[in-house]
Order: sequence, then C-alpha cells, then structure tokens
Amino acid sequence: MRFAPYTEADFDLHPLMFYYEVTRACDLVCKHCRASAQEDPAPDELSPSDALALIRQVARFDRKPTICFTGGDPLKRADLFDLIACAAEHGITSALTPSATPLATFDAFRRAKEAGVSAIGLSVDGPNAQVHDAFRGFDGSFAKAMEILDYARDLNLPVQVNTSVTRRNVELIDEIAEMLELKRVAVWSVFFLVPVGRGVEEVRITPREYIEVFEKLWRHAQTKSYAVKTTEAPHYRRYVLEHGGNPLAAPRHADGEAVGRGGGRARAPLGVTDGRGIMFCGHNGEIYPAGFLPIVCGRFPRDSVVDVYRNHPLFKALHNPDNYKGICGTCEYRRVCGGSRSRAYALTGDPLAAEPDCAFEQ
Ligand code: SF4
Repeated sequence: MRFAPYTEADFDLHPLMFYYEVTRACDLVCKHCRASAQEDPAPDELSPSDALALIRQVARFDRKPTICFTGGDPLKRADLFDLIACAAEHGITSALTPSATPLATFDAFRRAKEAGVSAIGLSVDGPNAQVHDAFRGFDGSFAKAMEILDYARDLNLPVQVNTSVTRRNVELIDEIAEMLELKRVAVWSVFFLVPVGRGVEEVRITPREYIEVFEKLWRHAQTKSYAVKTTEAPHYRRYVLEHGGNPLAAPRHADGEAVGRGGGRARAPLGVTDGRGIMFCGHNGEIYPAGFLPIVCGRFPRDSVVDVYRNHPLFKALHNPDNYKGICGTCEYRRVCGGSRSRAYALTGDPLAAEPDCAFEQ
C-alpha cells in the first residue's frame, strides 16, 4: 500500500524515526559516544518480553515509524533477531547500527536481513585506520568497518555511513567523501557533535566551520553517487536552499538522474528534528525526544510511547517551531531547519533555545 507523503500535520501524531537503544553494552570506547557505553548490559535493560511489547506498541502509531535498533552495540543483545522479526511481523521497517567489533560477522548480517532488517547504519570517522581507530579506541576498527561494508554489499543491504565531525577530522571531509564513493554506500550522514556522554571531551568545530563543511557536503551531494544528509545540523538544509538545491527532495544531476543511490529516502522530509518526527527509547525504557536530548519524558512500560509523543508538554512544544526561542524562533527557515534542539539543551539547558552553532545571518 502507498501512503500519502509525510506532512507537517504528521509531526503532532507520529514520529518518522523511532530509535530504540536495545542495550548500552558495547566492546568499543568511542571518544564521542552518546551512551557512554559499557562492556556489559545495564541491570535495568528492558527484558526480552518488555522489548517485544515496546515494538508492538510502536506499531500502534497510525503511521508506523521506521525503527532503528541502536546501542551500545545491538549485536550484544541476545534476542536482537527476535526484536527485528517482531518489527517485521508488525509491518515496521527497521535498520540496524552495529559496532565494528568481531560480533559483526557476515552470518550476523545475514540473520538480521532474514529477520527483516532493510538497512545498516555504520560509523566511519576517518578515511583511514589511523584517524578512525583513534576515534573508536580500538585498533582494527577501521578494517572491520570496511569488512562490514563488503558484507552489506554482498547481502544487498543498503548502508548509511555515519561520520562525526570534530576538530580531529574536519580537514579530512573530502578524503572521507572520496573513500565512501569507492565503497558504494547509499547514504552519508554527517553528525555534528553534541556535547553529551563521552562527547563532552571532544572539541566542536566553530559555527563558521559548519558553513565550510556544508559547502563541501553540498558539492559531494551533487557529484557523488550516494545521498548526503546531516544529523544535529539541520541548518545544512538552509545552506542547500540558499544554493539552489531542494533539501526536501532527492537532488538530480543535470541529466535528470537522481543523485545518490539512496534517492529520496536519504532526505529528511520537512523539518524533522529532535522530538519533531524523532523519538528515542533508552535501554531501560526511558523515553526522550532524541538520543542526544536527555530529558526523560516517560518510561516504558509504565508510559505509552504513543501517548508521550502526542501529549507530553516537551514533545508538544518541540513539534511547533514557532515555540523556538532567539534567532530560531523568528528565522524564516525554522520550519525546514529549527536548529539542533539537542545542542541547544546541552549548551544552554533549554531545548527550545536558539541553535548555538548557527552562523547564518537573519
Ligand atoms: S537561525 Fe535556527 S532555524 Fe534559522 S537557520 Fe539557523 S539554526 Fe536554522
């Protein structure tokens, strides 16, 4: 069945993406980890039966969001394939973001695909092992990530590569872009640091440098075979609009061919941002507007994720960009951008405050 396009009115009723942190356990010690992941599962992790009940509840949204099974390392969770299968049985599209460790085998991805996963998200923070492994705190992590890309290609699973931009790799954007072209990824999602978890120890780039990175990303978006998007930097959409592009539609080459193997899937429709089209459930059932916005708005199973998304005061405030403060509240781009609500909260304590890292003039 084909659904009508997602519209602004949908923001009040159902998220587009539902991130479920199935565990905080992970064998890596990444420098910018949101979850400050640990080697073993937390004692309050949702039980297998509660995790299945959560997925069944997500299926009650009138328009079912895509579930992204994240962590920690979701492959550390013994019942992961049951959770994926449950999502598929309820008509929910799902994606998986594994850590690049020995648990990420070809067989694990084959099982994930058989259970119903339709895409993989993979972190790659540098164009080579020297840079990437320093981020990840684990020698061999880059080689493993490249291996995972090969597994995914062999299994015909589209891959979204996630790259965190910090002071460590801001000069290497072009090199990373070229490497990803060779690896034939579907989507490149560039994440701009939010100082939470272990990310507080990393150095953010300056607002002016955001613009320089946006310029590079837009150039690659128009010339590479993969699609490009940003995470926690929605002002990239403003950059694209001001440079003749349409951030809400799949861009096209001059000959009319869609740019990016990911096509329209890679584009965040409308102004999707933290709590507005996005919802996050932690390993213990705590419900947040986003993984980088750690304000607890409820706790599953005591609270319904459907009810929290529609009725919690913070979610309701985030749904409407007219509630944003400072320059974001009056900016003509607030409905397609709106700034990172997570970064606003991390740096000011107010999730509705102006995006601290926006250098655009009003
Ligand atoms: S002022 Fe806010 S809404 Fe406008 S472009 Fe900057 S971050 Fe986006």
